[in-house]
Amino acid sequence: MKVSAYAVPAAGESLEPLIIERRDLRPRDVLVRIHYSGICHSDIHQGREEWFPNTFPMVPGHEIAGTVEAVGSDVTAFKVGDHVGVGVFVDSCKKCAQCVAGHGQYCAEGMVGTYADVERDGDERRGKVPTQGGYSTHIVVDERYVMRIPENLPLDGAAPLLCAGITVYSPLKHWRVGPGTRVGVMGLGGLGHMAVQLAAAMGADVTLISHSPTKEADGRALGARDFLLSSDQGAMNSARMSLDFIVNAVSADVDIDRYMQLLDNDGVMCLVGLPIEPISIRPFTLTAARRSLAGSQIGGIAETQEMLDFCGEHDVVSRIEVIQASEINTAWDRVVDSNVRYRFVIDTASLPAVS
Ligand code: NAP
Ligand code: ZN
Ligand code: ZN
Repeated sequence: MKVSAYAVPAAGESLEPLIIERRDLRPRDVLVRIHYSGICHSDIHQGREEWFPNTFPMVPGHEIAGTVEAVGSDVTAFKVGDHVGVGVFVDSCKKCAQCVAGHGQYCAEGMVGTYADVERDGDERRGKVPTQGGYSTHIVVDERYVMRIPENLPLDGAAPLLCAGITVYSPLKHWRVGPGTRVGVMGLGGLGHMAVQLAAAMGADVTLISHSPTKEADGRALGARDFLLSSDQGAMNSARMSLDFIVNAVSADVDIDRYMQLLDNDGVMCLVGLPIEPISIRPFTLTAARRSLAGSQIGGIAETQEMLDFCGEHDVVSRIEVIQASEINTAWDRVVDSNVRYRFVIDTASLPAVS
């Protein structure tokens, strides 16, 4: 079927309307009517080709919330009308050790990204097809890569959970954050504001570490007990060795070494932010307190479902600004300027009609 979308025509260019083709339903496919699609900073990194070469035109978007509009003949998990979400990947090999363990995001053959990637299985008519993401009205996804959004959560506020939410939930769980854990969150953006809320809901003592003095009140309202302005070196010195775990959700290149000093003995900083330049760190910073620097990439499908259910139980959603499709380019610039509170979500009803 032909559907309306917004696409980046070529690296670094402004997004504009595009009609794209979605595949016919295979037996295990679900046709999702996308209602809301979040804007993740990764969309911008890729649309501007900041990480690696990409193919264009690119329809970004991997924070998808909508309803099931049709199901293939063998679908058992979903029915028409269900509230569902699609996240950062839509396929994986399903056979390697990581896939079998439920960590398809680390698939040995590579996960298939929701956009800027190529479908594993060719299409009978079209051969190998590029994947196109959520800045569109519909998407067709194998039911094994679709998640259920709890009915008590609004679809617009839930959309960012599909990337921002799971990307911070997964490391918080992996490093066993719970009551009393002293957690630092670097950067109150899309990921960071979910990390503050989720860590607080898990019972942790949360410190927001931000380069924006204006975000203190919001950080505290979202659940942070303390606020550290990263440019205030005196405050950074006083907070030395005060944290057990740091979620680093900063999108820009910063001096990681300064922030590592905030970790106590055996503390861990987990990178989820993906700025461009390699990281520099003094070896003594790690050895002097047996600190670790780690990284984490989104989360598996089952874990994403667990996170959505956790959010349903704790009434956790993203703080959003809903925008029209015509506002996407301005929104991208505002994300880069750290000027979003705290996630832009596109109302896909504003996409042009397919003529
Ligand atoms: P975002 O909304 O733009 O948030 C990034 C935050 O970084 C900003 O709000 C700002 O927080 C801080 N920041 C920005 N520029 C800075 C600077 N010059 N110095 C210090 N801090 C700065 O981005 P996002 O969508 O949350 O994504 C964050 C990063 O995670 C991106 O690189 C994205 O690609 C990556 N990501 C990774 C995964 C994964 O699987 N690992 C998944 C999704 C996204 P303050 O104003 O509070 O300082
Ligand atoms: Zn993302
Ligand atoms: Zn695999």
